Amino acid sequence: MDASLKTKFIVVTGGVISGIGKGVATAAIASLLERNYKTIPIKCDGYLNSDPGTINPIEHGEVYILDDGSEVDMDFGHYERFLGIRAKRDWNITMGKVYKQILDEEREGHYLGKTVQLIPHVTDNIKNRIYQISKEEEAEITLIEIGGTVGDLENALFIEAVRQMRLEVGRKNMLFIHLTYIPKPSGVNELKSKPTQQSIKTINEMGIYPDLIIARCHEELTLSVIEKISLYCNIEKEHIITSPDLENLYSLPKVFHEQKITPIINERLSIGAKPDVSFYNDLMTSFNLSKTKDPLNITICGKYTDLEDSYASINETLKIITLHHGIDIRTHLIDTTESNEKIEKQLKNIHGIIVPGGFGSRGIEGKINAIRYARENNIPFLGICYGMQLAVIEFARHVCGIKDANTREVEHEIKGTFTPLIDLLENQKQVRQKGASMRLGGHDVEIKKGSLAYQIYGQSPIRERFRHRYEVNPDYVDILEKNGMIFSGYSKKDGIKQVMELPNHPFFMTCQFHPEVSSTLKAPEKLFEAFVLKSRHQGV
Ligand code: GLN
Repeated sequence: MDASLKTKFIVVTGGVISGIGKGVATAAIASLLERNYKTIPIKCDGYLNSDPGTINPIEHGEVYILDDGSEVDMDFGHYERFLGIRAKRDWNITMGKVYKQILDEEREGHYLGKTVQLIPHVTDNIKNRIYQISKEEEAEITLIEIGGTVGDLENALFIEAVRQMRLEVGRKNMLFIHLTYIPKPSGVNELKSKPTQQSIKTINEMGIYPDLIIARCHEELTLSVIEKISLYCNIEKEHIITSPDLENLYSLPKVFHEQKITPIINERLSIGAKPDVSFYNDLMTSFNLSKTKDPLNITICGKYTDLEDSYASINETLKIITLHHGIDIRTHLIDTTESNEKIEKQLKNIHGIIVPGGFGSRGIEGKINAIRYARENNIPFLGICYGMQLAVIEFARHVCGIKDANTREVEHEIKGTFTPLIDLLENQKQVRQKGASMRLGGHDVEIKKGSLAYQIYGQSPIRERFRHRYEVNPDYVDILEKNGMIFSGYSKKDGIKQVMELPNHPFFMTCQFHPEVSSTLKAPEKLFEAFVLKSRHQGV
């Protein structure tokens, strides 16, 4: 370790079960500190994929895309939204990246004469990454979130690495937070602390003694449970913080702050963070006000409906708009693999329709049908990435009369011929590798003056993030435009169509990029905002 390193470290581990909001809790804690200290998040994931780009969102939630083109864990969405920062590729440390580097180095002769081992080589690699990122970013505080739950083999080496770090940086520079779950089993009707006790025991055996326990629970912890946890886990009562179910997760910093988490961290790390509590209070006032109004029903029509986290950034963007505009937005998921009748039935009483990004053939006819419904019934529509491509196909089929319009992406499943309205990007034609090989990350989008997109963004170019292999086929742009389609956003460099809108419709807006990853708690993304405001204007 470099002795000049001035960073303080906060490690967040998880216990009992996964999927209880460790990423949100980490982001919320970081947001209490970032006003006074340069705070950066690092996420450690134990899987052997280099990044989650090749993993189905049903497994770990959506794949989040950063401006630098990296595909990272969805928790980076929480970090960016809560902190208003731009995260970087290296901040997501996966075991895949760690092993790959070590194995490549071994072949190069880096370890000549030595046995390459999990300890110290893997743990050193992890520690060095964390130190180096903290140094390069001049971070005053680095939060390290360790994926999975304590006791998993997958994350054991990350936990061992942070245990060693604590020795190297010293107690006053490093703090451990353990997030657990307190169940209330049906029939028992009592909060149960035993899983937490066992999880703390497991982490203690690994040489880590958490300074704070955050207990996820459907309700406030009772004093008797707090006392039990304190006694058996050897931790002060005041250091046990409840993280109850919240209607709005953006109140979490406030909930933590009210339980004195900030002074505890301040004291332990000898810092003086003073969060902007009034900002969170104002947001909550607006949120509470929204509940007095008529709900606005927005639907996301997609195929990854088994796991809500698959569309996390879209959901969060809508929640942020609720906070800023006091609109009670209810989000509904419609499974587009269902029959058209079922889909249409669910679209009744909906004020705005979103067709999100996606891949492959499953559910696309349902999406196309939902798009047609939005277009023909004048329902505000937002199409994102695949949603834009399918909107072009829908228009080609039903307005331009190109009945067999389709995308090259599903070519192998089409019987007979088809017209490729959507085709492979020119520079994708040679690509064979699947990982990190799409057109990824931030690119400039030129916005045409006089368009609805220009009215919304008020500037050109804008910078947005992409993740795709296919594009609107330039050969068909003429015929689409002749029939009334407007391509209001494009790439100056290679002409790729990046925004498409339809006039003579209250709001029919589509984009090849992912606007949902550009929202922060302080500034909701503009296209989404315009879509919601129009949906409210039209419907409620
Ligand atoms: N499957 C489409 C493509 O690769 C869209 C991708 C997406 O929606 N992210 O171009």
